[in-house]
Amino acid sequence: MLRHNPAVGITLIYLAFGSLWILLSDGALALIARDAAQLATWQNYKGIAFILVTALLLFSLLQLRQRQLQRSETRFLATFEQAAVGIALVAPDGRWLKVNRRLCALVGYSEAELLQLSFQDITYHKELDADLELVNQMLKGERDSYSLEKRYRRKDGQLIWINLTVALVRDQQGQPDYFISVVEDINQQKQAELELRIAATAFETRQAMIITDAEQSILRVNQAFSQTTGYRPDEVIGQTPALLKSGRHETEFYQRMWQELSRDRQWQGEIWNRRKNGEIYPEWLHISAVLDEQGQVCNYIGAFEDISQHKQAEAKIHSLSYFDVLTKLPNRRLFMDRLQQALLSSKRLDQLGAVFFIDLDGFSALNDTQSHDVGDRVLIEIAQRLVRSVHGDDTVARLGSDEFVVVVENLHQNMDSALVQAKELGERLLAAIRQPIPINGGEFVITASMGVSLFDGGSDSVADLLKRADASMLQVKGTGRDRLHFFDHSMQQALEQRVSLEALLRKAIPEQLVLHYQLQADIQGRPLGAEVLVRWQDPQQGLISPAAFIPLAEQSGLILPMGQWILRSACRQLQQWQGQAARRQLSLAVNVSPKQFQQADFVDQVAAALDEFGIPPQLLKLEITESLLLDDLDSVMAKMDRIKALGLRLSLDDFGTGFSSLSYLQRLPFDQLKIDQSFLRSLHPGDKDAAIVRTIISLGKNLDMEVIAEGVETQTALDFLAEQGCNSYQGYLLARPMPLEALEQLLTARA
Ligand code: C2E
Ligand code: MG
Ligand code: MG
Repeated sequence: MLRHNPAVGITLIYLAFGSLWILLSDGALALIARDAAQLATWQNYKGIAFILVTALLLFSLLQLRQRQLQRSETRFLATFEQAAVGIALVAPDGRWLKVNRRLCALVGYSEAELLQLSFQDITYHKELDADLELVNQMLKGERDSYSLEKRYRRKDGQLIWINLTVALVRDQQGQPDYFISVVEDINQQKQAELELRIAATAFETRQAMIITDAEQSILRVNQAFSQTTGYRPDEVIGQTPALLKSGRHETEFYQRMWQELSRDRQWQGEIWNRRKNGEIYPEWLHISAVLDEQGQVCNYIGAFEDISQHKQAEAKIHSLSYFDVLTKLPNRRLFMDRLQQALLSSKRLDQLGAVFFIDLDGFSALNDTQSHDVGDRVLIEIAQRLVRSVHGDDTVARLGSDEFVVVVENLHQNMDSALVQAKELGERLLAAIRQPIPINGGEFVITASMGVSLFDGGSDSVADLLKRADASMLQVKGTGRDRLHFFDHSMQQALEQRVSLEALLRKAIPEQLVLHYQLQADIQGRPLGAEVLVRWQDPQQGLISPAAFIPLAEQSGLILPMGQWILRSACRQLQQWQGQAARRQLSLAVNVSPKQFQQADFVDQVAAALDEFGIPPQLLKLEITESLLLDDLDSVMAKMDRIKALGLRLSLDDFGTGFSSLSYLQRLPFDQLKIDQSFLRSLHPGDKDAAIVRTIISLGKNLDMEVIAEGVETQTALDFLAEQGCNSYQGYLLARPMPLEALEQLLTARA
């Protein structure tokens, strides 16, 4: 049939090739339709039938092809939509043409929102240029695709890392049609990389780091480790940290460390380790255990820091705050601490101990007359001698300028024996101090006054104990030097009395203070003025003499407000007399104690009082004693000059009792020498006192100073003074100290 019917032949050929072609191209359908129409014109029913069958077949094939296309489209869409990566079709200018769900989820926009934007809109602005450059290269045909890691900014503003692969699809004319972009989320991976980088950087810090496995075998160390220990990584990896052991710690130390580590999973503390060069150094070490998922230790991380410099600085600070810089002895602070310890242990062990309070005699004078360097060397020498004279566990400290203190523990348990022991040691210390000190080719001899107080750890406080030893020392100073004195019970009582007296005196200023006036006259008895003498009018005890409270006022500092009140009262009195013709010439002598004089603003206080009361300054006389001259002479002299410049007069009280060197006198601007009463009270011409008085009077004349005698009780004394050419006097013979009204009556009577 095929041989006789060309239509069948053609149809079969078409069928064979056509069906193959159909599968390949849509254009084939048009061709088949055209040839089928031609065959229809042949009027060959068989042929027509055959063509119809063929057409039917072709139609079925077309249907099949259509379904295949649809299936492929659906599959493509499903793949596009459900892809685990973001996929987008992007126009050459960057607009999103089609985006899948994953991409939307990744950047946080809905599909509709994203289709309004371009890839430029969501690219991290700092990375846009690099991206655009690659796009351009593709558009210019320089590359077909590219892949890069970059960041998108999500709708919520957060930056996320993605891996972008872009391929360009061209149309049939070869022009760029659209891009296919595949967007992979690599944010987590990037974060992990970042963390690793941070960890690696952190590992290379200034702290030395060491990582071991669970068996303590070193896995890794950082550069700081090598710098600190001197070991290169290859020298320690595989070893254990025991390699660094200094040998300074007992096995128990390491045992405790490991116990704590296994209990708390970390340990920190100070540890001594050894560097490669053998040097031992302190470090602050922190060890943490790292646990695996099962909670088992898998690693240990040790971080440590060399703290030797820190330690040195600490030691320096310690030494500065606890030791005297000059003598290197413990200072007051450390001494108080040690004494506290000594008290505690004496209580615990029921043992006696002793505190020796040592004050060098005449040290300020030595310091003033010699250079300060000599003073320093004396102090250093004395410190060394004291240290050498006691046992190593006894404490020798320097409390202040020339005050030293020694604490001895473990004395005999029997009080009497302990006293003897302490006395012997005290005397040994005094003897050591007394030895000549060779300095600059010369020799200096210095002695000390020593107060000793025993302690038994009873109820003594450190402060009480010191107070007692100090009080005993002052006792020595008062009764001759270069001796020791034990604190005893009567002193204790005196001490307690002093404390309560001080409290009373504090309340008494100024309401209970009264001033008495003792007339001063020229040698013919003509009144010149008076010395102002303070008394304490106590409601219970009556009138208390200044001898009983001035020393206390000086020690407690109460002399300052008291002195100020006395000075102003004297000025007020002078001001009153200025209004009375008969008394306008009278002067007043005011006693000024060293503590008062030493105040930085003493001269200003005087000037203010003069100003306030507007009195002629020459009518005010300040009496100061020689003890003041033992202090820093230059500053005393400067103050005196300023007082003189104000127009006031200065009198040197109690002259003859102290140890003023005559050279001082020449340099100081005194107007008057006041001969101490002790020479006058029982003076007889021809005796020793008379000789001294004579000498003082002639000294005054030579130095061009007035001389006044105090304590003149007898006519004999007065006659002697007149004979020797003394200018003026005061004493019971003339008048006792008395209240103002009595003095004024006396003055009126004598006028
Ligand atoms: P002073 O300055 O040497 O005063 C002289 C002391 O001798 C006074 O004792 C006075 O009453 C006493 N006196 C005067 N004439 C005679 C006499 O003929 N025979 C005897 N036996 N004694 C005589 P007072 O008033 O008890 O003062 C004692 C010391 O107290 C004073 O010695 C002075 O150092 C101090 N003082 C007194 N008043 C003040 C004051 O207002 N301020 C300061 N800072 N110290 C004062
Ligand atoms: Mg006086
Ligand atoms: Mg006097």
